[in-house]
Amino acid sequence: MSKVIKVLKPGVGTGRRGGSFNRGRALVAGGAGFLGSHLCERLLRDGYEVIAVDNFHTGKRYNLNVLQRDPGFLCIEHDIIDPLPRDLPVDEIYNLACPASPPHYQADPIHTFKTSVLGSMNLLELARRHNAKIFQASTSEVYGDPLVHPQPEGYFGNVNTHGPRSCYDEGKRSAETLFFDYSRTYGIDVRVARIFNTYGRRMQPDDGRVVSNFIVQALRGEDLTVYGSGLQTRSFCYADDLIQGFIRLMNAPNAPAHPVNLGNPVEFTVMELARLVIDYTNSRSRIVHRPLPVDDPRQRKPDISFARQNLGWEPQVSLSQGLAHTVEYFDALLYGSRPVKEA
Ligand code: NAD
Ligand code: UDP
Repeated sequence: MSKVIKVLKPGVGTGRRGGSFNRGRALVAGGAGFLGSHLCERLLRDGYEVIAVDNFHTGKRYNLNVLQRDPGFLCIEHDIIDPLPRDLPVDEIYNLACPASPPHYQADPIHTFKTSVLGSMNLLELARRHNAKIFQASTSEVYGDPLVHPQPEGYFGNVNTHGPRSCYDEGKRSAETLFFDYSRTYGIDVRVARIFNTYGRRMQPDDGRVVSNFIVQALRGEDLTVYGSGLQTRSFCYADDLIQGFIRLMNAPNAPAHPVNLGNPVEFTVMELARLVIDYTNSRSRIVHRPLPVDDPRQRKPDISFARQNLGWEPQVSLSQGLAHTVEYFDALLYGSRPVKEA
């Protein structure tokens, strides 16, 4: 059963392209999450009426604090594995709903899989009903432990079908299939982004992903937990850059006929990241090693040629700049030392 949490403006939820919301109405599934809340904020700024749909599994109500002052914002508590209310006319749908951090998506793997598969179907049905354009937040995890490096969109990946990460990786792969099948079958306008590791303000301290773990550990003076040797690589994109990529992809005049990589192509080892975080926080923390999780990809770096050439998009924020903002955010969140800077 869906629950409307807050409607600040009488009339929101009843009409389309009315008043000052000249861009129409966008629905953001996963709108209370790290990336979803940034996206809602950006869409409101761009003149959309925004409906966030979230089950608050990993998302937080306080991520929506800034947004709830906006008259064009509405939040519905709803799990997307259940069909969306039929009478919800929307022009654009962004599907970001899915826990993204390994400890969270592995906590209830069957629900994670249902979220990607049943959740995507429910949102695609909503898009079909209202002739809405729909965006899917896919992931670099569809490449698994890649044997091709860097990863272009044409690479089919190297994914374990039955390991602890499979609920997420295979769920996202199935969702990509569904998106393009709905497009071919019903002519729906779909946009699919393969997102590479992204970090920034509004990550949760207990999120479990590497950037937030290291920063929180360093600020608390705890050991930084490097899994395995730390020689595995990742390419880290700052959230603001990624959101700009979402907007470019969604607004490209022609829908790309395949998923599009969005990420920062500068590659770091996990050890290099740990050292950078210790530097940026002036921390006395030490680096300790913990066992490498099963199926942890050894390398990851996007080939973003398609996005560069066709969307005119590439990341602008370096890891040093992004870490500085993110450290400031966590410092304020944990210790209240400074007000958390909002965009
Ligand atoms: P997040 O965990 O902060 O956000 C996910 C949001 O979805 C949360 O608000 C959560 O409560 C909500 N949600 C989860 N399951 C739901 C369900 N069944 N019904 C309704 N809401 C549900 O993660 P994030 O980093 O903001 O990721 C957002 C999206 O981007 C995810 O789909 C993720 O797979 C994708 N992605 C993120 C990254 C990254 O590095 N941040 C990388 C690749 C892909
Ligand atoms: N990692 C780590 N310490 C941590 C958390 C993660 O060394 O406290 C490693 C993890 O094993 C992986 C990399 O950092 O090699 C990125 O992990 P994350 O969970 O952020 O993203 P993903 O594995 O999904 O790329």
